[in-house]
Formats: sequence, structure tokens, C-alpha cells
Amino acid sequence: MGNDSLANKAIKILRRYPLCDRCLGRMFARLGLALSNKDRGRALKISAVMEIHRKLILGKEDMEILKQLSPRLSPYADGLSIKYFGEKPEPERCYLCGNLVETLMEEATEKGIELLSSSESQRFLVGVKLSKEIHEKEEKLKSEFGLPYAESIKNELKREIGKKIQQKGFTVDFDESEAILIIHFPRGEIELETSPIFYKARYWKIGRYISQSYWPTREGPPKYPFSVEQAAKSLLKVHKAEDVIIHASGREDADARMLGTGRPLVIEVKRPLKRRVEPEIVESALNEGGKGLVKFKVEGHANRSLVRAYKNELASSRKTYKILVVSEQPLSPEDHEELQMFFRNKTVEQRTPIRVLHRRSDITRRRKVYSVSTMPITTHVFLAVVEAEGGLYVKELVSGDEGRTQPSFTSVLKKQMVCVDLDVVSVDLGKPLNTV
Ligand SMILES: [Zn+2]
Repeated sequence: MGNDSLANKAIKILRRYPLCDRCLGRMFARLGLALSNKDRGRALKISAVMEIHRKLILGKEDMEILKQLSPRLSPYADGLSIKYFGEKPEPERCYLCGNLVETLMEEATEKGIELLSSSESQRFLVGVKLSKEIHEKEEKLKSEFGLPYAESIKNELKREIGKKIQQKGFTVDFDESEAILIIHFPRGEIELETSPIFYKARYWKIGRYISQSYWPTREGPPKYPFSVEQAAKSLLKVHKAEDVIIHASGREDADARMLGTGRPLVIEVKRPLKRRVEPEIVESALNEGGKGLVKFKVEGHANRSLVRAYKNELASSRKTYKILVVSEQPLSPEDHEELQMFFRNKTVEQRTPIRVLHRRSDITRRRKVYSVSTMPITTHVFLAVVEAEGGLYVKELVSGDEGRTQPSFTSVLKKQMVCVDLDVVSVDLGKPLNTV
């Protein structure tokens, strides 16, 4: 900044650009603590007026400078103007903010409180979107005058509006905000973007031919008439939300039921306008949406890290299936004995099943089968309970998938078998996962 006094520096800036108190003060924002930029600007302008007056008295400055600057130093130079020119100057509009910044702060505070209250959001953040023009003007000022103590208008708006709203009982929260107030400057538009709500829950699929996610085909209606995700969309109304999506820990085939312990999932409610809803109301809305085909139990709130955990820990979970198997050849009691003995902590190698090859890459995976216990119904039909590592393709464990799964029920007994019905009866995630 050289040896210029702050007053002279302010005079130099104002000779080039008219700035309101707050915009001038912002150029020196890091000087003097616990002051507002408006205070700084006011102090600088008063000092500038005093400096100009001093020079006029000493005859070091001509009237031209007062003539030019008095509209930019209004109302602090009004006294001098009246004395020397016989009238008050017409104040000039701020080069940077067009005199909008003060009004915007008031309006954004008021509107912000209204938006936060109506969406039942308590913890919030302020975001500011500046026009390119204002941003460029700011940069130009800084590079032209070398202003190492300046802050950006964006920063100031965020801080000041945040502070004002906080005084009304809301809390600025950088980690877990419930909503972000977005202020467009200088357009003045103020909008609220609410953060998603996450529920930790479980679902049961009592019906068959229900997919997990809503899965519309390109040509028209979804492949399956109903999905767990569609059932969860019953929360749209409850939360006045824009969308509801689910993140489950693994998935069963659409034709398999999900029984027993149910499957853990996180329900994400996007952009809710109603935030606080009793858990019982959430659960009953979900079950109503499930139409008796899908059931839910809400276990509490969750966050994004649980979503990530469900995605990553898929393989480490342990699952139990109840299946109905049909064999082409008759099975003897010894065959049953052999199957149960053979699949005890057995590692199975599976190439991607033929039925999903069109949408998954062809890889080989190794999964453990912990146990198989069977119960004959007829010589050709039996029930089996299979306990296995998550991610095992159970239908292929039975059929062998033309040799792509090794070993399989079919390969062990050398009798072609097929799984005609499949239910998941337990999903055990192994280690406990965090909830909030
Ligand atoms: Zn301004």
C-alpha cells in the first residue's frame, strides 16, 4: 500500500470510482477488528473529507477535487459543499453494488427467516451467487489499487446475513446444515435449498415380481409393475419433497421375496419442504405406499456415510435364502445328505450369470457358501435353506449356469436342477453400522 495514508488511499479510489460506504469499507475489511465494513467506509470517507478540507485550507488542493468527490462523499462532505458551492451534491450510485447491497442484506435476512421457518429448517448455511460482472469489477478494483486487506462481497454477504439470521434463533452449521439459503446478487433472488433427510430402515417384500428400484424401460412402462422405491415415494407428500430414492444393502431378484429379518436400506428424501415428521407417521405412510406388498420399518435417522457403508460392505454381509428346487432326475436321501455335506464353508466360483450378462461385465467372483440344508417334498422337489456370503448368485448355485458356476448343486449330484422360487430370509451386515 506504500506510504499512502488510508485517507489518501480512499481519495485515490473514489477519484476513479464512486463507492458506497460498505463497498469502500470492504476494500479495507481486514483492518480494525469487530467493525462492520459500513463503519470502515464511513470512517474512511469522513477522514477523506477532513483531509480534503485541510488541503483546501493550506491551499494545497484546488476546488476541483471537492467538486468531483463531494457526490461520492455524500453526506459527509455536504457541509463543505454548502460552504463552497452553496448547495448539497446529488449522491452518486455505487460502481460496485449500485447501492443494492444494504437493501439486499435486509431483504435476504427477512426472506431467509421466512423460508427457513416454513421448511422447518433450523441449522443452515448461506451461499451467494455473484454475477460475473460484479466479480470482474471487484477483481479490477483490487488489481488497480493493490488492496491486500480487501474481502469479497460474497464473503461479506454470507457472513453478515448468516449473523443476522442467527440472531433470530437459527444456527449456522457447516457440517450438517438442514438448508442452504442461496442469494443471487445483484439480481436479488433468494431461494432455499433444503438438505436431504435420510432414514435408516428395513424392508420386506411380501409379493413377487417387485423390483427394488423404479425401473422404467426406454419404450414405456416399467418392467415390473411395482417397486420398493415406488412404495417409498409415498414420503413425497409427507415431506413435501421433490423426490425420494432408496439405497439398499444389496438386492434380491425381482421374483424373490424378502422375508425374515428384512433388508436394510436408507431412504433419501430430496429437497423436503416439511422437515420434522414423527417417525410413526413416516412409517405408516411408507407402509401405506407398500400396498401390503412391501413393508417397512423405520429405525431412525441416518446420513450419507451410511449410504456409502451399504454400498461398500455389500460383499461382507451374510445372507440366508429359502429356495424351492426342482430336479430333472429323482433324488435319493443320499443325494440330500451329499449336498448338505458338500456345501459346508465351500468357496464357489461364479462367472457373471448369463441372465445378467447384458448389463454387467463378465467377471469371475468367489463367494462362500456357509451351509445348505434341504427338506425333500417329493423325489423331484425339495426346499433348501442356503446361508452364504452376500453377492452370491443363488439361482446359479443350483443350476450351475451351464458350467459358469463351479461347483453347483447340479455339478455335485450330476443331476440337472433349477431353482423355481427364492426368498431372502435374512440379511446380516456383520459388523454394526453407525446411525445418527
Ligand atoms: Zn456498494
